[in-house]
Amino acid sequence: MILKGFNELRVFLETPKNIVIIGHRNPDGDAVGSTLALKHYLDKKGHTATVLMPNDYPDFLHWLPGSDTTYRFDWQNNQSQKAIQKSDIIFLLDFNTLHRVGSDMQNTLEKYPNDFVMIDHHQQPDDMKYMYSDVSICSTSQMVYQFIEMNSDLLLIDKDIATCLYTGIMTDTGSFRFRSTTSLTHRIIADLIDKGAQNDRIHNNVYDANSYNRLLLLGQALSNLQILPEYNTAFITLTEEEKKRFDFQKGDTEGVVNYALSLKGIIFAAIFIEDKEQNIIKISFRSKGTFSVNKFARNHFNGGGHDNASGGRSELSMEETITNFSSLLQNYKTELETSYEI
Ligand code: 5GP
Ligand code: MN
Repeated sequence: MILKGFNELRVFLETPKNIVIIGHRNPDGDAVGSTLALKHYLDKKGHTATVLMPNDYPDFLHWLPGSDTTYRFDWQNNQSQKAIQKSDIIFLLDFNTLHRVGSDMQNTLEKYPNDFVMIDHHQQPDDMKYMYSDVSICSTSQMVYQFIEMNSDLLLIDKDIATCLYTGIMTDTGSFRFRSTTSLTHRIIADLIDKGAQNDRIHNNVYDANSYNRLLLLGQALSNLQILPEYNTAFITLTEEEKKRFDFQKGDTEGVVNYALSLKGIIFAAIFIEDKEQNIIKISFRSKGTFSVNKFARNHFNGGGHDNASGGRSELSMEETITNFSSLLQNYKTELETSYEI
């Protein structure tokens, strides 16, 4: 755990400030939930906070309170640049290094004259003036709750803040089932429900908001699933053509990799998604037990993340990527056999 400069930060925030809060590119539930919750909290403290995202997030997060006040750096560039210029400080949430916002926004942030505050749970964070980093915590949203608690402000958590934090914790823990979910997580969730988070509504808004095409795309993904039993591994592929056929929308492939991991005996799962726009294969990795997909993604696919959930990319074709992936597994055979008590 790293906690750096927070006494100084508390003094800095004693007078009203213009604040920008930024999440990572392709924001997920934790990025959107944590940034919006922090915005609501800072606004209540008398500041003026604006959430900027590098690009858009899926429809199933647009209902979150305050979502309509956020800007996308890619297509609302003027408003975003103005907010950054006006700001006294920038909070970076749910990412560990500036390149996770994409190169355009990274260029702007690298010229920023004031200080950054990083609140994040990913490994190997860049050094910032103010930092709260803890890789053992399930979600940045839980860290925002703990940040509010550090400031003795739990009483300021209202229904909107509780809703945003609940959503972030729920999505990053796979609905409270991953190893990172602790008794403290459940205590915090209980408190958020007491403060107005409607758990049934939130689950419904996020998980029962599928389009028909999204389910058909899932069907295609499942029929593409391949199993490598000798490595306790399963993977899914989706080509650009398949995405087009089912009218792919942002967020449609979120969580699909977990179906591969749901197979009995499988401890390592991957999904390879062709992205013609960036000309890459975008990859998500998931694991159970001690097999670190963070290391695997860092070592072989120019990526990173957490021990049990990570991502990366490949510049090869889909076929070449799969051949490369499959051949790498030989080097991990023992780790893959011993990762989990099956
Ligand atoms: P997802 O597979 O859901 O996109 O991402 C899982 C985890 O891996 C997230 O914590 C995310 O931040 C991280 N991650 C995904 N893609 C990349 C990547 O290209 N580089 C790095 N460093 N982390 C990634
Ligand atoms: Mn997160």
